[in-house]
Amino acid sequence: MKLSDSIQNLKGIGEKTSTLFGKVGVFSLWDLLLYIPRDFVINPEIRTASSLLEAKEGELAAVRLTVQGVPSLIHVRRLSILNAFGSDETGSVKLSWYNQPYLKKTLQPGSTRVFLGKVKFNRGTVSLEHPKMFRLDEYDRQKGVLHPVYPLTHGLTSKGIEKAVKGAFDAVSPIADFLTKEEMDKLDLPELETSLRTVHSPASPERMTKARKRLAFNEYLSFLLSIRRMKTENAASHNDFHMEEADETNKLIGSLPYKLTGAQMRAFRDVLNDVGGERAMNRLVQGDVGSGKTIVALLAMLTAAANGYQSAMMAPTEVLASQHAEKIRGLFEEYGIDYEVELLTGSLTAKEKREAKKRIESGEARIVVGTHALIQEDVVFQDLALVVTDEQHRFGVNQRQVLADKTINKKVPHVLVMSATPIPRTLAIILYGDLDISVMDELPAARLPIKNAVVGIEYRKKAYNFILKQVQEGHQAYVICPQVEESEMVEGENVTDYSAKLKEIYGDSVRVVMLHGKMKPKEKNEIMRQFSEHEIDVLVSTTVIEVGVDVPNSTVMMIEDAQKFGLAALHQIRGRVGRGKAQSYCIFVNTAGGEEDNKRLKVLSSTNDGFKIASEDLKLRGPGDLFGIRQSGVMDFKIADIYNDADMLKAASAFVHDISKEAEERLMVYEADTGRITL
Ligand code: ADP
Ligand code: MG
Repeated sequence: MKLSDSIQNLKGIGEKTSTLFGKVGVFSLWDLLLYIPRDFVINPEIRTASSLLEAKEGELAAVRLTVQGVPSLIHVRRLSILNAFGSDETGSVKLSWYNQPYLKKTLQPGSTRVFLGKVKFNRGTVSLEHPKMFRLDEYDRQKGVLHPVYPLTHGLTSKGIEKAVKGAFDAVSPIADFLTKEEMDKLDLPELETSLRTVHSPASPERMTKARKRLAFNEYLSFLLSIRRMKTENAASHNDFHMEEADETNKLIGSLPYKLTGAQMRAFRDVLNDVGGERAMNRLVQGDVGSGKTIVALLAMLTAAANGYQSAMMAPTEVLASQHAEKIRGLFEEYGIDYEVELLTGSLTAKEKREAKKRIESGEARIVVGTHALIQEDVVFQDLALVVTDEQHRFGVNQRQVLADKTINKKVPHVLVMSATPIPRTLAIILYGDLDISVMDELPAARLPIKNAVVGIEYRKKAYNFILKQVQEGHQAYVICPQVEESEMVEGENVTDYSAKLKEIYGDSVRVVMLHGKMKPKEKNEIMRQFSEHEIDVLVSTTVIEVGVDVPNSTVMMIEDAQKFGLAALHQIRGRVGRGKAQSYCIFVNTAGGEEDNKRLKVLSSTNDGFKIASEDLKLRGPGDLFGIRQSGVMDFKIADIYNDADMLKAASAFVHDISKEAEERLMVYEADTGRITL
């Protein structure tokens, strides 16, 4: 089999399983080999039942127990709970499983097994939740073995993935390496196949780190080669849409309620120079959250409209696309600007979509706002001169060409990419080698810095009172929980229960509503609209609001289970407040209470500079951290993390810089083998 073959070619993977894999982005054998564990566990030593009393809640423990009596099976709504008791000579332990009624048969009274599970205390009884069962000899054989824990999607188990990975190796081994022995020695990196095998079952943490580095190197290498291709193509591009500076933009700048920052002005100047120049614009505007990128994009779109052209703005989520469209329409109305703004999202009805597309095709819609998917998939433009992508980090030549092919005249549009990702300059030059960059390193002056607090759960009551006070003063608040609803598998606050709790606490005095990613897009948009228009006071949400959302009247951000998030993600979430004139506050609740986490979270109190935060995070976690916390939204790499693997990015950059023809050919073969689609 080839690496690019579908996983359906493996024994035991039918249509159903492959659909599940598809949900996590695994289609080919190569994808599967790169679906690497997010953690490893070593089975703990067997201990006595009585010693569990000294264990920590949630600790993984193994106890050898004899099943006492017949297990009981009860049903609560759609949930079945299987309870049993097991004991050794020191005491007894309760064992519980949810929705696994069939285990009852294996739990024969009097049988003895090793039970491995998480410790839980409930009114003086110790229990193990969802324990796995082993025969003693079986358990002993696994001593010291690192067991992979894969990132899961509903319906796929870690065991199932492990089996599929093994099948994939059997099918494709030996995997040819595209680096020569000398190159690997020079780079101090292990072989490709060894690395792949190691990341799935490492003999030691050190080997794991090395293997991960090798895979990160591969990923960067492919990426940088495609950037090089793009650069060549950009250099050969023409300016098919020449634009002049328009009066309307100056009028708008003059009538805004605020003065543009110097950085905003400079970025807009850069854009004007590009669109009036020789070649198609290909520019990145990089500015921290809240630096005011949207207005720069809008000025660019207005310039296109005034020059008689169409422009499109693409957002990663519907919520954000709708919000952008609303804002632009609002501004146009307020300042008497008369261009048609078209919103194109998945939750429009079929008829609405048809009509919107008609207006886009006829050119009547001058400014189009939508989600990436929609705009790229099935729209024909009259005269698309400018594409703005919000919160995306790059825009490939292919994408640009795809859009050009969708216009009636097939001309290539200007591209403006907006990103809040804080990347050190040296890395940005490598990563964005084909783009011109405008850095917006200045926040609007009218802002008060956000006040931050890192607290424990005992502070919650105070926080609720504080939110109440802010609401009474006419402001709004966000409360973020990591989960949508209660789950048996993961501990953590969830928006469903949390919003119910807040409703109970506040009664009718505060309008509390929840928002999460599992809702229908239409419902999400409606809730965001209500929140924007202050029909909701407190929004209890998952991180769906992480990117881009702008409701300047919100002054409090309370983040539950803050310790579970990466600092860069927290910084993005925090960026939803502190956008207006009023003082804003961010409350990070460390629900686990650990000192290490407190220390990490306090970095956020000490600075509001996204780049400093990302690099501090890395320093605190240190090189011993196998997986790191994947930073939010930083490019779409599967394995490489630009902070953790900056060394590999530099190494790959140097490699590409003086790559030989022969080496480049080897790489092309590898890319074809793995079925990697380059940008
Ligand atoms: P981001 O860079 O995160 O996309 P936005 O463009 O959403 O930021 O702007 C954040 C908020 O700041 C918006 O409410 C916007 O109206 C406001 N804003 C933008 N530029 C300025 C400025 N120069 N002075 C004051 N407020 C501004
Ligand atoms: Mg934005």
